[in-house]
Amino acid sequence: MNPWLIGVPAAALAAAAATSFAAVNSRSQIFGATLSQTASPLELALTFDDGPNPAITPKLLQLLDRYQAKATFFVIGRFVGLCPALTKEILEYGHQLGNHTQTHPNLFWLSPQSVREEMRRCQDAMLSATGREAAYFRPPYGYRNPWVVSGARQLGMKTVLWTLLPGDWKALSAEWLTARMRPIARHAESATRRQGGDVLCLHDGAHRVLGGDRTRTLAALEYWLPRWRDLGLKFVTISEAVKLPAR
Ligand SMILES: [Zn+2]
Repeated sequence: MNPWLIGVPAAALAAAAATSFAAVNSRSQIFGATLSQTASPLELALTFDDGPNPAITPKLLQLLDRYQAKATFFVIGRFVGLCPALTKEILEYGHQLGNHTQTHPNLFWLSPQSVREEMRRCQDAMLSATGREAAYFRPPYGYRNPWVVSGARQLGMKTVLWTLLPGDWKALSAEWLTARMRPIARHAESATRRQGGDVLCLHDGAHRVLGGDRTRTLAALEYWLPRWRDLGLKFVTISEAVKLPAR
């Protein structure tokens, strides 16, 4: 068989695989500079996506408050529109709000115009609920394409990913999730040998429906927050945490 005929599809497949890997890999910078770690190994940025969620967010705010832990909430514009008072409450507790699009689509497949529209509508929802727009953006599922990071930048936002994504949305038990979050403590214990700190991505909401059950996320945090504090970790918001790599 002509090796060229074999080679082309193999190369095309490899390129497609590399592209989709870069689209979702949280450390990849090929689609533009993104932030995925804090500046110091003893600074932990807790981040919560897909809220606000009236079933979980109020309990989470109380739990974080008990440990004076400040976090960043990447909210969905549609839910902000449904829960403006709760969105404002997040800010009143001293946390930071980030933009997580209006409807939570996979941006990889959207045109530059649709990507901007998703970001813009979420900014508008936050502006009308709180009087402020977000300075940080997190793409749903972590998916980027060449115009996601630049589109966010045009709206004044830096794009934020994570170092650890424990998969709390698929947790069948709090124990499972607690074990999946253990790397944070391991990293704190070896802080002298490390450079940046963790950005932990959890979920206080479920993007498909308002009121999603995230009680396992709360339980795992109940377990870890005092332990992280005792390990010397400081809880920081994204804007306290970072330096973005040069653009
Ligand atoms: Zn999300």
